[in-house]
Amino acid sequence: MHYDLHTHSTASDGTLSPADLVKRAKQQGVDVLALTDHDTTEGLKEAALTAEQEGIILVKGVEISVTWEKMTVHILGLGIDPDDQVLQKGLNGLRTFRQWRAEEIGRRLEKSGIENAYDGALKYVKGQLVSRTHFARYLVECGKAKNVGDVFKKYLVNNKPGYVSGQWGDLEDVVSWIRGAGGTAVIAHPARYRMSATKLRRLIEHFKAFGGTGIEVVSGSHSPNDRNNMALYAKRYSLLASQGSDYHGPENPWIELGKLHPLPSGCEPVWSAWS
Ligand code: AMP
Ligand code: MN
Ligand code: MN
Ligand code: MN
Repeated sequence: MHYDLHTHSTASDGTLSPADLVKRAKQQGVDVLALTDHDTTEGLKEAALTAEQEGIILVKGVEISVTWEKMTVHILGLGIDPDDQVLQKGLNGLRTFRQWRAEEIGRRLEKSGIENAYDGALKYVKGQLVSRTHFARYLVECGKAKNVGDVFKKYLVNNKPGYVSGQWGDLEDVVSWIRGAGGTAVIAHPARYRMSATKLRRLIEHFKAFGGTGIEVVSGSHSPNDRNNMALYAKRYSLLASQGSDYHGPENPWIELGKLHPLPSGCEPVWSAWS
């Protein structure tokens, strides 16, 4: 079985609709796909319908933004029930913050001489939320940088004109929303955070204490060294290992659905506990 347990659609900052994402996953030979949009489950209904038509298994997921010790960390919820009210209330709160943040990003970019960035970003929004990625796509369109990655570097990260700090979900709350909705909580792309080894160990210890059970070992954004490293953490902390491309769309051709390195040996896959 081929698993890809971390992907995005137009419901957040991906560029394929949930239906097109599922169809492409099928074409790429994925057997089990998780749709894990940022802070929303809006795309799951359409994805589930298409998955049934295409004969592919859909894992209902979400990628939740967390602020932990002043850092932004992403926690995946895999196998969640999107009808869970506590989860939905939590996600709603995060989207309220997102909305304010998007307007504030627009005001700050305006002050640094970029007009109408908020309206420009909205042109790229197809779901219920505005992401920095939408701003980045608009700023590329305006010629402010040559690609999305460069927009982030020049405008959207800490100490740059369009950066807005703030409070996402609390780690303990977010893990409990996921568990309460019947899901497995997984630390997304752990090697991506600019975090010391000591801090990563502390994150894992807190996460486990709150009931988190998984860590993403194989990710589209992990190097071979990252994979081996995170496999060691998974084993040392008895965490289930997950794998996902973090696919956002065909504009980033270096990441494809289902094109994943296998989990390093000795990892206990996150799906081993699923029926
Ligand atoms: P947000 O949740 O709105 O703060 O946006 C975070 C999203 O921006 C991530 O999920 C990535 O898809 C994207 N992103 C973050 N950093 C970068 C980067 N350096 N280059 C390209 N995309 C990025
Ligand atoms: Mn994203
Ligand atoms: Mn992420
Ligand atoms: Mn992601």
